[in-house]
Amino acid sequence: MKYQTFLIKYAEIAVKGKNRYIFEDALIHRMRQVLRNVDGEFAVSKTQGRVYVDCKSDYDYDEVIAALQTVFGINAICPVVKIENEGFEKLTEAVLRYVDDEYPDKNRTFKVFARRADKSFPVRSTQMNEELGASILDAFPEMKVDVHKPEIELYVEVRENIYIYSKQIPGPGGMPLGTGGKAMLLLSGGIDSPVAGYMVSKRGVKIDAVYFHAPPYTSERAKQKVVDLARKISKYTGTICLHVINFTDIQLAIYEKCPHEQLTIIMRRYMMRIAEKIAVDNDCLALVTGESIGQVASQTMQSLAVTNEVCTLPVFRPLIGFDKQEIIDVSEKIDTFETSILPYEDCCTIFVAKHPVTKPELKAIKKSEEKLRDCIDDLLAKAFETDEVINVI
Ligand code: ATP
Ligand code: MG
Repeated sequence: MKYQTFLIKYAEIAVKGKNRYIFEDALIHRMRQVLRNVDGEFAVSKTQGRVYVDCKSDYDYDEVIAALQTVFGINAICPVVKIENEGFEKLTEAVLRYVDDEYPDKNRTFKVFARRADKSFPVRSTQMNEELGASILDAFPEMKVDVHKPEIELYVEVRENIYIYSKQIPGPGGMPLGTGGKAMLLLSGGIDSPVAGYMVSKRGVKIDAVYFHAPPYTSERAKQKVVDLARKISKYTGTICLHVINFTDIQLAIYEKCPHEQLTIIMRRYMMRIAEKIAVDNDCLALVTGESIGQVASQTMQSLAVTNEVCTLPVFRPLIGFDKQEIIDVSEKIDTFETSILPYEDCCTIFVAKHPVTKPELKAIKKSEEKLRDCIDDLLAKAFETDEVINVI
């Protein structure tokens, strides 16, 4: 076991003033959760404003890093060599051993960043920087000091133990899960909405989700695909409570009674209405969709405005200014892309008109919705009854 410890660096939490402990505790809670799924025994602790993972048994390095890279709030993961605090001579030996092990190719520049948190240690930080630098140059003459842009930033921290590290593996960033309340994600089987859920969750928001399916026009496989997508993002977001709503009768009623070029927009308005009710019933403070301006007819500014009109909760659209390729890049990073492009039908694509309106007028849309007056309350009540809740872990 080369590294006994990982030092966890977090960024924005550091500026949260007297609420800081709430963010740190949420971070630690989530770290413990994800490490429970990794073979080995780990202790996560907070000391002097730093979070450490101590490895108490053998473990697989790549697995631990991969698990920690799903924890929002982590900025960097630093594999650390930890030694006992037994004086400066022992420290110097350990540092030389570390450099030798870690960098077989010595033809590099470096800078030492020593920090004496334990003020009883006899050597001061600046003196440690100088003396450790000199010892490294002595031992490995190919190495050079560069104080401005070193290739290796070598950190040596003297606390009750001594910590040596130089690698910072990037984490996902963001804020710890659950520090930002809860939102309801409208999750379809496409590329965009899983990415939207990931992005909102990255800011510390817990996610529930709703999926509208339209059997027999959409298949069980299409529904399974949405469950699979929820599972993929739950790696980051934690357990997702997924509501599956049967939307068929509402869709058929719209298809039968409303002008076909308005189908999508009216359908979207009903989706939002239903999602909002489920959101409120489940203590969610906002809705989240995968919409992006201009991507399709129902996502022009005019369409978005008309869709939005039915909601009182805020609707977050984290992809609003993203190009498709930028969305795809994130979906590849979070491993949802391959699932999203599986060719199963979506309820929006089946009932889509040849020439949907791109600049719907609210008045006209409301007038068309009037045609549903006799049946819609009944249909909505029935739709809510179909709510199937799947806890996706
Ligand atoms: P996505 O890739 O997320 O499916 P899209 O580009 O296909 O998006 P639309 O089909 O217009 O766009 O859907 C816009 C947004 O509406 C989606 O991002 C999603 O949030 C929501 N949505 C669409 N269809 C459904 C559905 N069947 N169930 C739940 N939400 C949906
Ligand atoms: Mg879609």
